[in-house]
Amino acid sequence: MTKMEKVKNYINGKFHNPLQDNWIENYCPANGDVYGLIPNSSKDDVENAYIAAKSAFPTWSQTTLEERSRILIKISELLEANLQRFAEAESKDNGKPISLAKSVDIPRAASNFRFFGNAITQFSSESYESVGKNAVNYTLRQPIGVVGCISPWNLPLYLFTWKIAPAIAAGNCIVAKPSEVTPMTAFLLGEICNEAGLPKGVLNIVHGLGTSTGQAIVEHPDIKAISFTGGTATGAHIAKVAAPMFKKLSLELGGKNPNIIFADCDYDDMLNTTVRSSFANQGQICLCGSRIFVEASIYDKFKTDFVKKVKQLKVGHPSNNDTNIGALVSKPHLEKVMSYINIAKKENGKILCGGNKVTVKGFENGYYLEPTVIEVQTDECRINQEEVFGPVVTIMTFNTEEDVLKMANKVKYGLSATLWTNSLKRTMRMSNQLQAGIVWVNTWMMRDLRTPFGGVKASGVGREGGFEALRFFTEAKNVCIKY
Ligand code: NAD
Repeated sequence: MTKMEKVKNYINGKFHNPLQDNWIENYCPANGDVYGLIPNSSKDDVENAYIAAKSAFPTWSQTTLEERSRILIKISELLEANLQRFAEAESKDNGKPISLAKSVDIPRAASNFRFFGNAITQFSSESYESVGKNAVNYTLRQPIGVVGCISPWNLPLYLFTWKIAPAIAAGNCIVAKPSEVTPMTAFLLGEICNEAGLPKGVLNIVHGLGTSTGQAIVEHPDIKAISFTGGTATGAHIAKVAAPMFKKLSLELGGKNPNIIFADCDYDDMLNTTVRSSFANQGQICLCGSRIFVEASIYDKFKTDFVKKVKQLKVGHPSNNDTNIGALVSKPHLEKVMSYINIAKKENGKILCGGNKVTVKGFENGYYLEPTVIEVQTDECRINQEEVFGPVVTIMTFNTEEDVLKMANKVKYGLSATLWTNSLKRTMRMSNQLQAGIVWVNTWMMRDLRTPFGGVKASGVGREGGFEALRFFTEAKNVCIKY
């Protein structure tokens, strides 16, 4: 067996084993081997992280914006300089193609630090003159103190840093936990933060299971805000624990996003993007358009062309540059996705392509699955209503704008929606009425980091991105002076 790669907690600028010496095994999705150990941190480890964060806070919250900005941008530069090493670690830990880790995950993590390093220099307090009353108000936006950041496994460093960068930029200190399924790049980030000169204790990373380490962060009475991205059930549980302590909460949860295709769209662009919005990262992106609705007049053509393109996607080892679909993140997740394919079959869904596990030569124990397209007759079946979070999409036809809008909105989630049309009027009508936090028209996952990001209904509460994130990680205090 290869040498075990041991992840450690990063507390007060140093690397530590968990106090109780409890460890979890880390699996490599590409071959199913255990290749590392991860701390399963206890309440005491979380307490140590909290103490470090608390002692760093008075100085960090008073550090000038220029200095905070300089450090964040330095972290960004160091991530860029270490692109290859981080991309390899992400791909090995998660199963995603190395090409994706190199072109999306790690560059975006670097952008998160650069973006918030710049944004904090533009974030300002407001003032309001109360005309005729001899009074002036000013509203300070002050850091909260010690905050908790908890992130999922699908875009590990990308989403971890999407929380950490604005929290630090705004002057907070952090106790953070990446997913126990993909802890490696968060572990490596500790070294980079030290090298960039981030003062010790500003960022503390504890690893472990959600139900122990994550729970300890949420339950900690003095961790005053929780920024969480993950499943809807976990989000509901966190809200329940945090509410009686009146913690500030940002919850980015699951999705079941519609991809609505009208006959008047730019067909080729739509087709290529739809393959990507269905199967990028093995379909394990909360924004993937997993419910495809196609206008009746182009349905048969779309079905033929789409299935043909999907069949061309290459499932393979994540480290091969020509792999389009890597391994799913874990064995339990592969089994969950398979179980949904079986549910769809029982519900009379027609498998147009895929539906089977794939054996990759030399990596027979890896978690591979064919990209799967299922034709459904009704939008009310479970495969069309529940989040699968894998390389599985449904397609069905619609006749009118009214019908498709109804179906698009008839799920419990409301994260994103994609619309393909060249009609301006329809674009305006539909985008106003779609129940989603994000609507993409004639594109998918085009991101501008200044824009609000988040969902409605069971997809969460609160918004990340740009000043929304800086507002979340600060408390507004109004001062009214009568003169
Ligand atoms: P998950 O909810 O199982 O875990 C997410 C994180 O929460 C992990 O770090 C986990 O250890 C931790 N956690 C679990 N139980 C906890 C508890 N009781 N207290 C505190 N922390 C706990 O989700 P996952 O399986 O890692 O990720 C997949 C889910 O994330 C999908 O539903 C997906 O849609 C969602 N997601 C949402 C967004 C978004 O921006 N809305 C982005 C990516 C993923």
